[in-house]
Amino acid sequence: METILLLTNTETDGSLVKPAREALHAAATLHKSLAGSKLVVGLVGESVQAAADSIAACPATRYFGVAGAEFAPSRYSTDAAAAAALCQAARATLVLAPATSRWNRVLPGVAQRLGGRVDGHVTGVGEAGGKPTVNRWYYRQRLEAALTRTQRPWFILVDPGSQKACECGGGTAAVEPVPVNPAPAGRRTTVVGIRAPQADAQTIRPDAPLLFVTGAGWTKKQADGRTHVAEAEKLILDFLKVTRASLGSSKSLVDLGGEGEAVLPFLSHLNQIGQTGATPRHAKGLSTCCHGEEPHTVGWRFIGERRAISLDPNCGWARGKADVLYVADAFAVVAKVNQLLAAHP
Ligand SMILES: Cc1cc2nc3c(=O)[nH]c(=O)nc-3n(C[C@H](O)[C@H](O)[C@H](O)COP(=O)(O)OP(=O)(O)OC[C@H]3O[C@@H](n4cnc5c(N)ncnc54)[C@H](O)[C@@H]3O)c2cc1C
Repeated sequence: METILLLTNTETDGSLVKPAREALHAAATLHKSLAGSKLVVGLVGESVQAAADSIAACPATRYFGVAGAEFAPSRYSTDAAAAAALCQAARATLVLAPATSRWNRVLPGVAQRLGGRVDGHVTGVGEAGGKPTVNRWYYRQRLEAALTRTQRPWFILVDPGSQKACECGGGTAAVEPVPVNPAPAGRRTTVVGIRAPQADAQTIRPDAPLLFVTGAGWTKKQADGRTHVAEAEKLILDFLKVTRASLGSSKSLVDLGGEGEAVLPFLSHLNQIGQTGATPRHAKGLSTCCHGEEPHTVGWRFIGERRAISLDPNCGWARGKADVLYVADAFAVVAKVNQLLAAHP
């Protein structure tokens, strides 16, 4: 009989982020499909009551919490100690957590401490022959596998964006406090603060409905024989401002910076989509000035609807990789779209 633990942290305001609710959705799905299983929740943070209350109507039967100021920041030693204590208190056999940088970093070590196993980048959970299964992609999102394990506890890191967020209602949860006393060595790392780019400088927005991808064409010579990088920069930034889309890039465009060519300064390798870049999840995607080659389009695997603007009617997008291809000048199209969006926000 499986005991499924949803393990996550609370934010500084006591809330749960969307990836945590998505992991809860996966945990509840697994609970529903595994006869006789129990669902419990384990929370880590400065305070955990408000978060537990916010999901009190979910099918979990018990809530465990590790609370205190030292558990507020993301820090390996305190997070690992808290996670191990919660797993033991809950006698968890399956542990689901959001695959955020915080839990990706910690749970492999916790699995090792507790003699368990861990799988990352999980995009689905289910049941086969009464056993829990997980789905994940291999070979840069080209092959999907469903697998199961006999070892317990089994730690399952659920990729953000792969699940619906649990919308179970709130209520009052009776949180059972779990005492954790991190060894003195666990306190030798002091978190002094967070440095993050300003909201407007942050162009990677995993929650945005639209992914806007820029390609090397934006920096290439145009019909007049000249490049128009400053104009491209303004068009792209204006588009992002009005749409709040997430910004992706082809490899060629981000590589150009390293080669000393004029490039768009707000792009880094973190924006790169593709085989050697990211595979983000968005409802829609718009590629501009990209050729749509295979390594690049691998990154579009989880984009619901794909559109592209390219001058080349024979580009990869035209060969079945885009749902809609506009054979057009992206400078002209984006300028017009920006104008229309500004007029009808
Ligand atoms: C092993 C391997 C891994 C790779 N991994 C990745 C990866 O992860 N991600 C990735 O992106 N690439 C990757 N690549 C590179 C990939 O194969 C392509 O070389 C790259 O994606 C091409 O970038 P691009 O489309 O921006 O540029 P280009 O191929 O130069 O295409 C530019 C396009 O812009 C169009 N254009 C120019 N001006 C305009 C205009 N005014 N309006 C509209 N269209 C215009 C042109 O018609 C052209 O189609 C990888 C390659 C290899 C070999």
